[in-house]
Amino acid sequence: MKAIVLDLGGTRLKIGLISDGEIISQALLPSYSENGIIPRLSAIEVCVNQILEQTGTGIGELSGVGISIPGIVDTKQMKVLSINKKFDDMPDFDFNTWSKQTWGIPTVMENDARAALIGEWQYGAGKNCDNIVLVTLGTGIGGAAMIEGKLLHGKHFQAGCLGGHFTVNMHGGKCTCGNTGCVESEASSWILPILFRNHLDFEQSKACGEELLDFELLFRLAIQGDKVSNEIMLHCLDAWSAGIVTMIHAYDPEMVIIGGGVMKSAEVILPYIRKKVEECAWTPWGKVKIEAAHFSDEAGMLGMAHLLK
Ligand SMILES: [Zn+2]
Repeated sequence: MKAIVLDLGGTRLKIGLISDGEIISQALLPSYSENGIIPRLSAIEVCVNQILEQTGTGIGELSGVGISIPGIVDTKQMKVLSINKKFDDMPDFDFNTWSKQTWGIPTVMENDARAALIGEWQYGAGKNCDNIVLVTLGTGIGGAAMIEGKLLHGKHFQAGCLGGHFTVNMHGGKCTCGNTGCVESEASSWILPILFRNHLDFEQSKACGEELLDFELLFRLAIQGDKVSNEIMLHCLDAWSAGIVTMIHAYDPEMVIIGGGVMKSAEVILPYIRKKVEECAWTPWGKVKIEAAHFSDEAGMLGMAHLLK
């Protein structure tokens, strides 16, 4: 069976037709997520119908529609429970009714990191492994956990998803979530410009005067020997490592899969985190594998299609 997948990200809406773990066709639309999802529905419908037409796919060939959401999702009631700083109208919107009325086929919804974990588990880095933690390092720090082949949801559907908000610095700054010293508020794309500008020697750094203070710049300058960049890079690597050690203590995985845009610098990140985990995690049974995600972008779509099987 084939499946339609809607990956509703804060920047891009990805719409795909999936068959047996392969993306047959896909399209991207800008999200304009500050305006909410409702104004984008007609464009999504047109795009899905175009894909079906172009690929000669009939509704009868589809197992359903899988919707992946960058927020906390009640997968039973099919409701968005909470979403941070984008698509404000999602919690009040009935995706299930909309999808059924539009295409008349079953719908599943899931949090985007959990969908990506399913994709990596079935088709990527996590094949043949049923105990996995997935972490995405980027604008925010996302995560999901699978124990004995089952996605962790919890009573309020937030279990396993909030690893980015584990406290790694009791004396750290305020996070957007309300906590202080989270992995995300210590080391993510949104805090990085603040880490640069607050550094006492920022004016001596090559980063001073750069318009975009992002991880690409940080890793590039650190490798070139820029002292400020190197210090900030080590701070970020330590924050991610501390978060991952806690995730290992919390979820008992055999493997931690790390994804996200920052992994363009995997050759620096992976050996560092592997060493820290070896030093700090309490795993008397053996060694947790720390691996890069296999997919840069497609794991969530493949995962959603798998959930419709
Ligand atoms: Zn937080």
